[in-house]
Amino acid sequence: IDNKDELTSSIKSEGSGRVSLSGSGSTDSGRHEPAHDARWPRQNSLTMKEWDIPYDELKLFEVIGTGRFGTVYRGSWHGAVAVKLLHVNALSDHSVPLDTFKHEVATFRKTRHENLVLFMGACMKPPRLAIVTSLCKGMTLYTHIHLRKDKFTANKSVIVAQQISQGMGYLHARGIIHKDLKTKNIFLENGKVVITDFGLFSVTKLCFGNNARGDSLGIPPGWLCYLAPELVRALRPHASLHLPFSKSTDVYAFGTVWYELLCGEYPFKGQPPEAIIWQVGKGVKQSLANMQASRDIKDILMLCWSYRSNERPDFPHLLSTLEKLPRKRLARSPSHPVHLSRSADS
Ligand code: ADP
Ligand code: MG
Repeated sequence: IDNKDELTSSIKSEGSGRVSLSGSGSTDSGRHEPAHDARWPRQNSLTMKEWDIPYDELKLFEVIGTGRFGTVYRGSWHGAVAVKLLHVNALSDHSVPLDTFKHEVATFRKTRHENLVLFMGACMKPPRLAIVTSLCKGMTLYTHIHLRKDKFTANKSVIVAQQISQGMGYLHARGIIHKDLKTKNIFLENGKVVITDFGLFSVTKLCFGNNARGDSLGIPPGWLCYLAPELVRALRPHASLHLPFSKSTDVYAFGTVWYELLCGEYPFKGQPPEAIIWQVGKGVKQSLANMQASRDIKDILMLCWSYRSNERPDFPHLLSTLEKLPRKRLARSPSHPVHLSRSADS
């Protein structure tokens, strides 16, 4: 018997029965039948146990925020942590297999990089499904840009973009597609970029169809402008799990983050979703005519937002382009750390 079968069947027997573990055709988890999935190594059940955090060991304090899929708590587990507790009822409504959750957790735990949030473990016994990561201090880029209206100079934007490219380049090199790169998932901690929620799209978007705040297509506000044309064209009501995400759709999303950093707002600001869908789907881009930025900076945007996915650069390429950008007034003392100054920080 495959080790993973052992694992899932043991969880099935412990479960409340509310979470569908079905591996049948109704599964949303994708193309692979779990038992034949070569991505699961033989020793997987052992390594999964290593990351399994007993729910009783977690202390939950206040709610930090509520996402589409569940609630994020400040918690404690050998120190301060963030706990993403999934709404299991919502999971079962959409019969998202526990396998999908486990698979994404398995992906998540393979990551070790300075610019990526630290994955600490997961609770994987239904109805307690939770992901435990280090608690990000500082604020998200979203909070800086859209709520506090902090201004990022071109130089600061470049430093932030370089760190994002570094973290994303690492993820892609490990074969992980973020699928939800956005300013809400990028923290700034004393000038250091920390990316969160990579590879958890199926888990985090499970309740997409239920989203009361979204419009008729079920599109959460602020999500659309990160979607590459090929994703926009594939949008169907309640079918976000089947979107054709790729490394280059992550690069497109990075382009939008780059635009937000430079302009302090979302592209297609104020336009209704239908108008954005129509334009992006046809290859119309946000105009840069009123943008105060150098040609080089705008070129990066246009490349990332290329209609054809194969014309978008990859993150190593972006990183070297960003490094070559001329910096204004870089006369710093050599001992001055290349960090953001206070204005856009903490
Ligand atoms: P979203 O990313 O769409 O804002 P999430 O469910 O991922 O939704 O996050 C909900 C809230 O919890 C957000 O305010 C987010 O900034 C916060 N949050 C998520 N992960 C962490 C973390 N590791 N550390 C601190 N805060 C976090
Ligand atoms: Mg998030």
